[in-house]
Amino acid sequence: MIAKDKVVGLTYILKNKQDEVLDEATQDDLFFYLHGHGQIVPGLEKGLAGLKTGDKKNITVKPEEGYGNPSDELRVVVSRSKFPSASDIQEGVQFLAETSEGMKHPFTVTKVDGDNVHMDGNHPLAGETLHFDVEIFEVRDATQEELEHGHAHGPGGHHHH
Ligand code: ZN
Repeated sequence: MIAKDKVVGLTYILKNKQDEVLDEATQDDLFFYLHGHGQIVPGLEKGLAGLKTGDKKNITVKPEEGYGNPSDELRVVVSRSKFPSASDIQEGVQFLAETSEGMKHPFTVTKVDGDNVHMDGNHPLAGETLHFDVEIFEVRDATQEELEHGHAHGPGGHHHH
């Protein structure tokens, strides 16, 4: 049964409210994670707890338990001169920048307006209610190494990072 310190292999289809597929993992390429270690969004982790191999479930995750609600503080306008001179500044490009707390955080360019570069550091799925269709294919005990690293090492426990 899925519980803390279990490694879980599953398929999922992630859809938004409009029923568009945002992401998926298929049986040929199972998604593995270590349960109870914050590797996946809290609402999904909660919904998976207690399931076992062969179980299927629809799990709805509200933004508060998903990627959060968009915050205006993470929408900033930065002067072009603040970027390294060779930067390729255009819509959709991501840059790592420091937040007010000094953490490195990815910001995506949303608009370039002359010298002003508009950037958004909100997760692309912030504010979205997420609909997961999951099927459980594997539940096993985590290895000592996985517990030390705080993440799963995939099929057969091999190291992949
Ligand atoms: Zn590792």
